[in-house]
Amino acid sequence: MALHDSATSINVGKHYLVRRNDDLWHLAEVLHTRFNDTAHLLEYYVHYKGFNRRLDQWVPRDWIKNSRIDNSEKKWEQNDMNKNKDLLNHSDSRITRSQNPRHNEINHVPMSNAEMDPITPAFEKEHEAITKIKYINFVQLGMYEIDTWYFSPFPEEYQKESKIWICEYCLKYSKLEKTFKYHMSQCIWRQPPGVEVYHKGSLSIWEVDSSQHKLYCQNLCLLAKLFIDHKTLFFDVEPFLFYILCKIDRFGAHLVGYFSKEKDSPDCHNVSCILTMPPFQKHGYGKLLIAFSYELSKLEGLVAGPETPLSDLGKVSYRSYWSWTLLEILKNACGSLSLEDLSAITSITQMDIISTLQSMNMVKYWKYQYVICVTHKMVEQLISSKQYKPPTYILDRSAIKWTPKR
Ligand SMILES: [Zn+2]
Repeated sequence: MALHDSATSINVGKHYLVRRNDDLWHLAEVLHTRFNDTAHLLEYYVHYKGFNRRLDQWVPRDWIKNSRIDNSEKKWEQNDMNKNKDLLNHSDSRITRSQNPRHNEINHVPMSNAEMDPITPAFEKEHEAITKIKYINFVQLGMYEIDTWYFSPFPEEYQKESKIWICEYCLKYSKLEKTFKYHMSQCIWRQPPGVEVYHKGSLSIWEVDSSQHKLYCQNLCLLAKLFIDHKTLFFDVEPFLFYILCKIDRFGAHLVGYFSKEKDSPDCHNVSCILTMPPFQKHGYGKLLIAFSYELSKLEGLVAGPETPLSDLGKVSYRSYWSWTLLEILKNACGSLSLEDLSAITSITQMDIISTLQSMNMVKYWKYQYVICVTHKMVEQLISSKQYKPPTYILDRSAIKWTPKR
């Protein structure tokens, strides 16, 4: 049988040139195979070297070139690249970079963190071994069918499904559309559990205490893991509070994003995990959640920041929030401000302030300390440069209904 013959030539654990959705051929490792019952064909789960693992995917046989590439032999690069020159197009640089994938995963944990922490490499290895195969490709959440990015530890029987259905209100999941539809006809939830702590226009934030709503929080973590590479919190949710951002219409409160926060954070973290659901990304909701997390810290009288390492998307949102917040203060400042002043006004840690000011060239290291060097002209120029856009949704402090627990 032709299918069988072609299938046997592809070995799990080996490297091949594999097509990607950009129509180019990239070096990739075959991690797993499965028989797709619906399409009646064998599929291969591949990791593209040098790319973030959210781009790992199931591909059909004809997306894989026959010749195997042995990563352990340096020679392959010469021979196969010559042989496959016509196939490589723009991808050759990626193949060369893949010799050290840990440095090159575009959106991975920053090396500085990994270097500081001697246990990270082993942990990373274990993490990759457990989570490398993503079985669930799609999730239906309300009106959205969403492509998933990463593995999530749903119960074993769900791991064989390529699509699951989730109730957007109570977050119960089902593997059958039929069960899901029945659930939707019965479910009386139309908003998250817990207390509404912010309401402005069509946007609301609920505070959910995981010790009171454990199942909801566990389900939220399972859903979120489909879009977050590094996340270990799933079942032991009780030490956390969850802040759920929803967009409200006449049907109910639709999940837009959330962040979790330790009830007691010895390291002063005001965000443990933060996610905007993919259909709502790049609309400014992430920055609204970040702003909210800092408003809570201000009310608590604490200087705080997110748990690190941040994801690639997290870094962009935080950097943007920090830059804009600092520029707004510097724009209106009379006289000189110290790092301590900025930190006290914003609740942002001095370390995060320094790195943000450095990126805007506004800080100097002088006599063993950082000194802010900024003129009104510099601030004006940066604000008008369009590089630092004001947030789409500005948090309205007067719409917060929240007081610190103690
Ligand atoms: Zn429900």
